[in-house]
Order: sequence, then C-alpha cells, then structure tokens
Amino acid sequence: MQLSGRIALITGAGQGIGKAIALNLASYGADVAVVDVNLENAEQTAKEARTMGRKALALKVDVSNLKETEEMAEKVFKELEGIHILVNNAGITKDGLILRMTEDDWDRVIDVNLKGAFNCTKSILKYMSKMRWGRIVNIASVVGVMGNAGQANYAASKAGLIGLTKSIAREFAGRNITCNAVAPGFIETAMTNALTDKIKEDLLKQIPLGRFGGPNDVAMGVLFLASNASSYITGQVLNINGGMVM
Ligand code: NAP
Repeated sequence: MQLSGRIALITGAGQGIGKAIALNLASYGADVAVVDVNLENAEQTAKEARTMGRKALALKVDVSNLKETEEMAEKVFKELEGIHILVNNAGITKDGLILRMTEDDWDRVIDVNLKGAFNCTKSILKYMSKMRWGRIVNIASVVGVMGNAGQANYAASKAGLIGLTKSIAREFAGRNITCNAVAPGFIETAMTNALTDKIKEDLLKQIPLGRFGGPNDVAMGVLFLASNASSYITGQVLNINGGMVM
C-alpha cells in the first residue's frame, strides 16, 4: 500500500478523521493537500506531514462553494504537481427531529456533506483524468445506510454520497479512476463528543466488537482504497463500524 509519488487531497483534514487520514496517507509516502475551513488547524496537520518528509500544502476552503473548490484544485495541481487521490471527508451535523428541523439546517448539511463532495469531485476530475490513475474516497456514514431519528438531513446527505460514489465509479472506470465510500460507525472525535453519556452507552450496546472506533480505524480503510492494493474495487461501500451493521 505504498503511496510514494502520489499526491492526495483531503478535505476537513484540520482535525478528527480527516487529520488521521491525511497523516496516515503521508506516513505511507503521499504528498498531501490539507483542506479545511479552519486554516490554523490545516496548517498544523500540514506541519506534521512535513516532519515525515512529505510535501504538504494547507488551504482554507469551504467545500460548499464551487468557485473555491475550483481554485483549490488548480492550486494543488500546480504546486504539488498533480492530484491522484481525493478524500471527501469534510462533514457537519445539525441534528433535530424533522418537525423541528429548520430549512437552514437541512440546506447547510446537504450543502457541506453532499454538494461539497460534488464540488470537490467535479473540480479535481479534469486534473485527475490527466494522471491516468485516480482514487476517490467519500466518507459516508453508517447513518446513510440505516437512517437515524433526529438526523434526517445528515442521513440523506450520506445516503446521497453513496449514490454519488456509485455514479462516479461508473463514469470514470474507463479512465483508471476508482471511486468508493467508507461508512464509519461511531468514531471518537469532536463530532461525537457532543453526545450525552446515555446515548453513548446505548450505542456501545449495539457494537459487537465492544468499543467505539478511533480515527485511525477509518484511516486504514481509506489507505487501502487509496492504494494500488484496491485496484479491482470500485463503487463499493466499506463499513467500518465494529460490526454495528452487517
Ligand atoms: P470533525 O471532527 O467535526 O471534523 C470535520 C472537519 O471538517 C473539521 O475540521 C471542520 O472544520 C471541517 N469542515 C466543516 N465544514 C467544512 C467545510 N464547509 N469545508 C471544509 N471543511 C469543513 O468530524 P469527524 O468526526 O472527524 O468527521 C469527519 C467525517 O466523517 C465527516 O464527514 C463525518 O460525517 C464522517 N463520520 C464521522 C463519524 C464519527 O463518528 N465521528 C461517523 C461516521 C461518519 P470546523 O471544525 O472548523 O468546522
């Protein structure tokens, strides 16, 4: 799964799962473009990648804005001299039962989680096509597979991401570009820290492996899908959830 000579762009890589993905890809040899709305955090991830001897570029980008993602793709292609791997990881939650969910909360979650992946994919594909080798990995969620009360916007965005994954896989298979999704279960990050102890206890009971996942559990699955080792796999969803859904 060596990635020497590969260039990877990871969104939402300033913290949490995205940061673990970026540093794991870097530790296997990839140069990385670290994209986040929080530039300070992105700079920190890039700094850590540079200590491994990799080239790393930190960029402040709101993935929901197509103009920004187009500028991002052009800059990464020029400065890192290519793009082989795209990981659409940036994501947010704005939870609430559907009758109380505001239109703004619906729109923002769809804009970042689903349209953000569309924007980044569309922006990089013209450059990735020139490389004659490409890997796109979309970070979906177990919730996109099974639904969740109180997360209609988030579940719809993640289920949409799975449909997007399969469509891109079909459109770009002929150009040696694969597109797969990873659907994590409960992973300990800032996003899940906000849940109450009661909710965490209830969730733990549904996980056969008896523990919550860590960002590196997801990062290892992404590494596989971003490498040569997965060259005959496209349009698939890899569930990383401790057995929560089988
Ligand atoms: P996190 O700790 O909140 O990290 C998400 C990162 O994305 C943050 O650095 C955030 O910046 C950034 N971001 C938010 N909006 C953005 C935008 N519009 N453009 C660019 N960057 C943006 O979340 P996480 O737990 O690592 O989650 C990463 C991904 O995994 C998400 O797609 C999430 O849905 C998915 N996931 C997580 C879990 C879990 O249990 N944690 C489970 C399944 C799937 P700010 O913090 O500054 O907003």
